[in-house]
Amino acid sequence: MAVPQRRTSPSRKRMRRAHDALKETQKIRCSRCNAWNLPHTICENCGHYRGKALLPVEGF
Ligand SMILES: [Zn+2]
Repeated sequence: MAVPQRRTSPSRKRMRRAHDALKETQKIRCSRCNAWNLPHTICENCGHYRGKALLPVEGF
């Protein structure tokens, strides 16, 4: 079995893990109501996507 020739130092380990953090999720503004939403999804607030009403939402 292949085995590492030497133990990874704490410094090397931390340098490697410096890139492991998750990025904040992308968000876009609804063109209709300006609410923040995930890209390529129907707006949670007004139920519209690309100018079309797709969900019945009260208040609109
Ligand atoms: Zn909206």
